[in-house]
Parts: sequence; structure tokens; C-alpha cells
Amino acid sequence: MRLSHGIHRTEKILSKGSLPTMNTMDYQHYQAVLDTLERRELPSAGDLAAFINACAPQAFSGPVPEQAGDLEAQYLEEAELRDNAAQTAAITLLNAGDSSALREELFARARRVARRHFGTKIYLRGLIEISNICRQDCRYCGIRRSNADASRYRLSPEEILGCCEHGYGLGFRTFVLQGGEDPWFTDERLAELLRGIKARWPDCAVTLSVGEKEEASYRLLRDAGADRFLLRHETADPVHYAKLHPPHQSWEKRMACLRSLKACGYQTGAGFMVGSPWQTTACLVKDVAFLHEFRPEMVGIGPFIPHTRTPFADFPSGNVERTLTMVAITRLLLPPAMLPSTTALGTAAEDGRERGILAGANVLMPNLSPKSARLRYTLYNNKRSEGAECADNIEALRRRLQAIGYDIVVDRGDFRKEQD
Ligand code: SF4
Repeated sequence: MRLSHGIHRTEKILSKGSLPTMNTMDYQHYQAVLDTLERRELPSAGDLAAFINACAPQAFSGPVPEQAGDLEAQYLEEAELRDNAAQTAAITLLNAGDSSALREELFARARRVARRHFGTKIYLRGLIEISNICRQDCRYCGIRRSNADASRYRLSPEEILGCCEHGYGLGFRTFVLQGGEDPWFTDERLAELLRGIKARWPDCAVTLSVGEKEEASYRLLRDAGADRFLLRHETADPVHYAKLHPPHQSWEKRMACLRSLKACGYQTGAGFMVGSPWQTTACLVKDVAFLHEFRPEMVGIGPFIPHTRTPFADFPSGNVERTLTMVAITRLLLPPAMLPSTTALGTAAEDGRERGILAGANVLMPNLSPKSARLRYTLYNNKRSEGAECADNIEALRRRLQAIGYDIVVDRGDFRKEQD
């Protein structure tokens, strides 16, 4: 019933007539868009939207819930983006072959750029999920404050140091301390933890991913030894942001935090989900423009994957090809950026991690958290934390990467500005 609703919607769009297809912007034109991206320039918004759609059409890859379909239609109407959706649907049905050829060319170019900067090296970050307690309520997140069913935990500083020690022995030289916005982790407690890590492992970098703070707090943590900070912008479209978050969480605040992080001298990570509810191609174009202007040192891009205990439980997951398309475009525009092949990508497809690297990613973040924490840090359903996602299985990961021509290095993997 739900699937037929999706098909019915597509047919409805197709029957509207005057559909642009691949013919309206032929292959040569798309090549010109690729050339522009490779020169690190932004194509026009219209060209970029058409290019993204041609590489990986925006399609609800699964059944569309009745309510979600209606809400999406309403949003598209509001944003006057119906034509965009029509084009997408048309390309999905008419030009699947063309799409994959264009996409493969994009990935090949992105790979070439990544190889020029990093060779065949893949940098590792050891992910330590320090707490799943969060004061925020992002509508897509399984550990949001409103999820009363989440089994909450917080690692002690001693447990976190234990994870670092274990990770150091395995060859990790970057530790990522990631958690919800847990009030127990005050600036002072985090600073003490950072000083402890830096004193014991001075050759390691520490990345924080602990959410929104005042600039003074970011500065204090930077002074205590934090090298990098991940804070996904989630969407560069304020209207879309408001649909993904409750009213007290503002897009302006998120952007201000990102600017503060840069001002404090962090290697700063932005990023977004692909296929999040109500995301249009126009939203992705804004994401690309934001990245081009803000120039983050790191960018995390993963498919949206729903969590059953969130308001977005019935929305379909993001499309893997579209996610890879966004990774590759980002690589072309920001050649020296550190781009992870995300856990969400590895969750959405068995070979997602490798495909991310073949689309231009150069970082992996295996999980160093204790097993009980890994199982409870469920941002989305079925999140992978075993197998090659688990830091203990680093040799299996190495073999998988060697099979596609890459290798893991023992290195902090800092962002380096281009020399030329
Ligand atoms: S995405 Fe982050 S800030 Fe938002 S609810 Fe989840 S853990 Fe909290």
C-alpha cells in the first residue's frame, strides 16, 4: 500500500508534462559541470541541481508513508520546487543507464584528486562514544532527549582513558570523543580529560564532537588540547533545518558555532545527511555552496537512516548513490579536506565504506567504545559497530582496504593546506 503510494506519486508527477530529461542538458553539458567542479568553482545552482539529479536521482528508495508523502508535497509546494522533483522522477525512470555512467566518471575524477593529495593512504580515527545523554531533541536522532526508551549511559574519565590506551596499542593516533550534549561533561571536566589524554599520548590528536557551546567554551577546550571539532551543519537551508529540529534549536546558532570553532583555530568539521526528510536537491545545492564558502577541514556525509523511536521513524533511508555523489562533489571542491567514509554509509550498504573511499573519501572511524556503549549509542537503527567497524578488527579492515588498493596508516592525519 505504501509502496504503491510512492509509485502513484511518481506517475502523477510524470503525467504533468514538459519534463526535462537528460536530453535537456546533454552529456557534454554535464561534462562541463564536472570540469567546473574540478576547477573548484561552483556551477550555477540550476546546473548543479541538474547534475546531482542526473548522477543520482532523488527518489524515495523505499515506501513513502502516506503522511510523509503529503508533508513532502506540501513542502515542495511551499518552496516552489515541484519542477525539480518532476525532473528527478523523470530521470529516475528514463535514464538510469546514463546516470550510472556519469556517476562513475564523477567518482573517478574524485578518486584521482584524493590520490593526488593522499596517495593510497587511509587515515583512521578511533571513535569513543562518551555519553548518549543529550539535552537536545533533533528529530532524526535515536538518542534525542524525548526518546524515553533509550538506555542511557556515560563513560567515566577512567573508561575513556582506557579506550585511548587500547586504541593507541592498535595504532590509532587520533581519538574522537563524541557524545550527546550531556551537562555532566562540563567544560572543566572535558578540559581535564583533554589534558590527561595529551599528557599520556602527546603524539595523538584529539577531536571533540560534543555539540553546541559558547565561543568561550570552545576556546577553553582548544587551550586544553583539543585539535579538531566536528559539528555537522546538517543542512544549509534554514527552512529545512527548522523541519529537522525543534524550535529552540536554531540554524543561526549552529552556523554561529561553526564560525566560532574556526575562530578558535580548530580543524573544523561540518557535514550533513543525504535523504533526510524534506531534503530537496535545492537543499543539497545550498550545502555545496556552504562548504565551498566555509571551507571546513573535515566533512562528514552519510545517508539518513531512520530510528524507530523518533518522529521520522517511517521515512525511507537516504539513497547510497546520492550520498556518494555528494562525497565526490565535495572532494572535487575541497581537495585537501579530510572526508570520512561514514559509519552510516557502511550501515546502508555492505560495501558502503569501500564505495565511499572509491568516491573520494580518505578517512575511516572505527569504534573504540566499550561494547555495551556501542550498542546503546544508537543514533539510527541497525548502526554498525561490529565487524570491520570495531577497532579491534583493524586487520580485517586493512585487508578490505587492500583489496581495493588502499592502506591504513599510523598517523595523526592532520589537515594540510595545499602547497601549490
Ligand atoms: S544529533 Fe546530537 S545533539 Fe541532536 S539529539 Fe542526537 S546526540 Fe543530541
